[in-house]
Amino acid sequence: MKDVQAIKTLLSSPKNIVITTHANPDGDALGSSLGLYLYLKKQGHQIDVITPTSYPDFLNWMQGNEEVIVNKESTLPGITKKIANADLIFCLDFSGLKRIKNLGPLVGASAGKKILIDHHLDPEDFADYSLWDTKSSATAELVFDLIEGLGGQKDIDADIAECLYAGIMTDTGSFKHPSTSAKTHRVVASLMEAGANINKVNRAIYDTNSLNRLRFIGYALMEKLVVLEKVKAAYFVITAEEHERFHLKSGDTEGLVNYALSIKDIEMSAIIMEREDEIKLSFRSVGDRAVNTFASEHFDGGGHKNAAGGHSQDTLENTVAKFRRLIESQ
Ligand code: 5GP
Ligand code: MN
Repeated sequence: MKDVQAIKTLLSSPKNIVITTHANPDGDALGSSLGLYLYLKKQGHQIDVITPTSYPDFLNWMQGNEEVIVNKESTLPGITKKIANADLIFCLDFSGLKRIKNLGPLVGASAGKKILIDHHLDPEDFADYSLWDTKSSATAELVFDLIEGLGGQKDIDADIAECLYAGIMTDTGSFKHPSTSAKTHRVVASLMEAGANINKVNRAIYDTNSLNRLRFIGYALMEKLVVLEKVKAAYFVITAEEHERFHLKSGDTEGLVNYALSIKDIEMSAIIMEREDEIKLSFRSVGDRAVNTFASEHFDGGGHKNAAGGHSQDTLENTVAKFRRLIESQ
């Protein structure tokens, strides 16, 4: 924890801070970023939270959401300046600069001190300080540890607690994944004592489906689920046309991959999605069947042992064919 002491020293006077997180931010990415943002704001720093892409509507209830700067072509000049002028850049929930898309080169080139807070495997060596623990259930849990280490636990209010709770809840699959530890529950207890309304957070994240999304899930389960019993795998392929037909928004396909994994005896699941600029793949697995190595070896990706992702610049057809070939030869 010597880096916590160094970070404490860095934060002992008001600083210009940028907090950033990975593309297509999920609950942990945004929850950890805004939790840290709200805490640091209370200490009198000037902070910008910058995300490389937009994020789903089911995350926009968090305090501080209105102030998040989402990278678009039109915002890029301002973002470039902020990153170049930052004293400190907190890099949350990602381990390589490629994961922040075109913010990567800007962060890499900035003279600001970089602080990595993350729980993914194999971090790139770009940060000056790091709080990195692959055993941590969520980056939000590490942000809690940092705040505690800075002596700031008394400053965790209900808003901060709900952001961090959202991060831990979503990254542990609602406290189901093996990464959920006794300590995770102790942190959550502290967040509840700080005022987190866990029912509100649960409803905001899981019970705000659009009818479109629900119908899409029904359609995907009925028409698009492919089960490869022999190799204990199941997957979906979602085309750009289907995206359009169901008016899917970012986040609407999230969770689908878990349905495939919930089939008895299935050990690995995937969703292959045709996006505007590339093919995006998400993988999930159980037990020792690792998908992070599968993602990094074949689809330019990475992640955790049981939850990983990657992408492909090839056509949808070729990507699916490659995926099937690999799976069936495993
Ligand atoms: P998801 O399937 O929810 O997009 O991602 C699951 C996990 O894999 C997350 O921890 C995420 O950080 C990681 N991941 C997803 N896509 C990529 C990718 O393209 N590259 C890397 N390195 N990790 C990814
Ligand atoms: Mn995470």
